[in-house]
Amino acid sequence: MNLVTVRCNECGAPLETSDSARYLTCNHCGSQLSVQRTASSIFTEKLEAIEERTEAIAGSIDVIRVQNDIAQLDREWVMEREKHLVRGKRGTHEPGAGDVIGSVVGLVVGLIMLCAGMSASSGGMMSMIGLFFIVMCGVGLVSGMGKAERLRSARTLYESRRQELQAELARLR
Ligand SMILES: [Zn+2]
Repeated sequence: MNLVTVRCNECGAPLETSDSARYLTCNHCGSQLSVQRTASSIFTEKLEAIEERTEAIAGSIDVIRVQNDIAQLDREWVMEREKHLVRGKRGTHEPGAGDVIGSVVGLVVGLIMLCAGMSASSGGMMSMIGLFFIVMCGVGLVSGMGKAERLRSARTLYESRRQELQAELARLR
């Protein structure tokens, strides 16, 4: 066993150690040291500093993982949103109030026709057409509102999941 002299990385005191030792304690300042060797040199590094660096690396891996989760969530949302879009005159769009205006108008017209038909002496045909309008537009209205509601709840789910991930990211930083 050969003795070598290294300097304490913390206080600079010269320390004697065996040339095969991996760890030592500075007998001057008490620092726990790791003995690092390269082809041409031998030096010490304070263990706490190594631990801090290891924790920092582990921390940045977590940050990358959460960032990837957010990017993945965003990609999934783009595909999910596509499924909820409705076809209109100018391509697809999100279902909303504009898509049920026709149904609402039809429902009102149907009601007027039904009332007019029922008050007229020979308004049987008009009442039937009014009723038909009411049923068709009622179905359209419920369906349109259901589509908008499904998109809304899917978006709420996506946004709350994204907020959770953003909060996790904020904790890691
Ligand atoms: Zn020292």
